[in-house]
Amino acid sequence: MQKSSKIIILGAGLSGLTCAYYLKKDYSIFEKGSRVGGLCRSEKVNGFTFDHTGHLLHIKRDKNKKLIRELLEKNLFLQKRKAWIYSKGIYTKYPFQANIYGLPSKVVKECIDGLREIRTNRKRYAVHRKPVDFKEWIYRNFGKGYAKHFMIPYNEKLWTVPLEEMSTEWTRGFIPIPTLKEVLAGARGRQEKDFGYNIRFYYPLKGGIEELPQSFLSAVKRINLNLKATKISLKDKKIKFSNGREIRYQRLVSTIPLPKLIKIIERIPEKVSKASKRLRYVSVFNLNLGIKRENISDKHWVYFPEKEFSFYRAGFTSNFSSYLAPRGTSSIYTEVSYSKDRPLDKKRITKKIVKDLIKAGIITSRDKILAKLVLDIRYAYPLYDHNYKESVATSQRFLRKNNIYSTGRFGSWEYLSMEDVINQGREIAQQLNGQ
Ligand SMILES: Cc1cc2nc3c(=O)[nH]c(=O)nc-3n(C[C@H](O)[C@H](O)[C@H](O)COP(=O)(O)OP(=O)(O)OC[C@H]3O[C@@H](n4cnc5c(N)ncnc54)[C@H](O)[C@@H]3O)c2cc1C
Repeated sequence: MQKSSKIIILGAGLSGLTCAYYLKKDYSIFEKGSRVGGLCRSEKVNGFTFDHTGHLLHIKRDKNKKLIRELLEKNLFLQKRKAWIYSKGIYTKYPFQANIYGLPSKVVKECIDGLREIRTNRKRYAVHRKPVDFKEWIYRNFGKGYAKHFMIPYNEKLWTVPLEEMSTEWTRGFIPIPTLKEVLAGARGRQEKDFGYNIRFYYPLKGGIEELPQSFLSAVKRINLNLKATKISLKDKKIKFSNGREIRYQRLVSTIPLPKLIKIIERIPEKVSKASKRLRYVSVFNLNLGIKRENISDKHWVYFPEKEFSFYRAGFTSNFSSYLAPRGTSSIYTEVSYSKDRPLDKKRITKKIVKDLIKAGIITSRDKILAKLVLDIRYAYPLYDHNYKESVATSQRFLRKNNIYSTGRFGSWEYLSMEDVINQGREIAQQLNGQ
């Protein structure tokens, strides 16, 4: 048995690394992978660099801007989002609800009429009452037309379940809600405003998003790679790892997916085990391609609400930074979601994605594919269903009672950005520093 580190951190993704960075006490990190970074890793294939799907730094807090500037120094630049939607055979600017100019006039009319109806009959649509589910939330905020032409098909595609199964806690901040005046300006092609939390983003000039987790390593030490936590004894405050090594802890910070953590804890109460098993998630099949043609697109990423396209989003890695693809080429990432509710035929999907890229006019059948990389992200989005709140609360209450801080995107089981997990990692370090 090894002598205890006071604080053990499980997982060297962005949340675990940030926590260690701000800790003023003795700690050790254990990571099951062979590199740090978790979801923020980047892979190199034939001269192309691909992230585990698009990972852009939308930073709101000055404190975090300062942190990433200190960490990445000159290897960082800020750019303005070029995000679009492809539907009915044309591109409209993101967000759909504020930029419907150019769509067939019937679609524009249905969207405007539906929104007018909902905004002028607030009593009839009971807008004062909390919507019972995500589908109702969509109808209440956008009306029938927007629901039909974008909101429902896009979200059902992404979340893989009927939207009546989803709650609405996560929507605040993610989905922009323009005023009727702004919508009308957008319908006339006179939209001047940018909407949403992600108007600008930072991104490393060279190396892909993994440069960020790697940059922590000048300050964060005591990282043990290739060690997976396999068992936790709460009674002895002891963790066992995949190589048989055991270590004691005083405080445990875990960034591994919440149900996985609960599963490896010995003698877990039935109620907690049941709650964690109820947590649902969406996975993402991410196909990345390197194409022998430059300037394949002038966009950063595009949303695809329609069923006929397998992916809900496709983006252009080489437009985040030209260093991510060799000269004379372009690179693309595509995201297809799946879950237990909507399984994916992984044998066929790669071919279908390529076909759909051709159908959308992004590549042609003559384009030469120089690199192909599949990244299958099992835990991609926590699914906010009607059991969500109670299941997370039951699990977290139990863990906190046992001095375990379960944090990060899947540790806290929240729809969190990189900035959010940086905030969480820092907050936990501050709490632990004060104990
Ligand atoms: C499809 C997708 C797109 C995204 N796009 C963006 C974006 O554009 N902008 C943005 O800000 N955010 C984005 N995010 C969110 C961002 O990736 C996360 O918020 C952040 O990377 C989560 O970091 P984390 O440390 O919490 O988790 P992770 O990165 O998952 O780290 C957890 C670590 O724990 C390790 N681990 C797991 N089990 C064990 C075990 N038993 N023992 C030891 N180690 C273990 C894992 O290997 C991993 O390294 C996106 C996420 C996804 C899925």
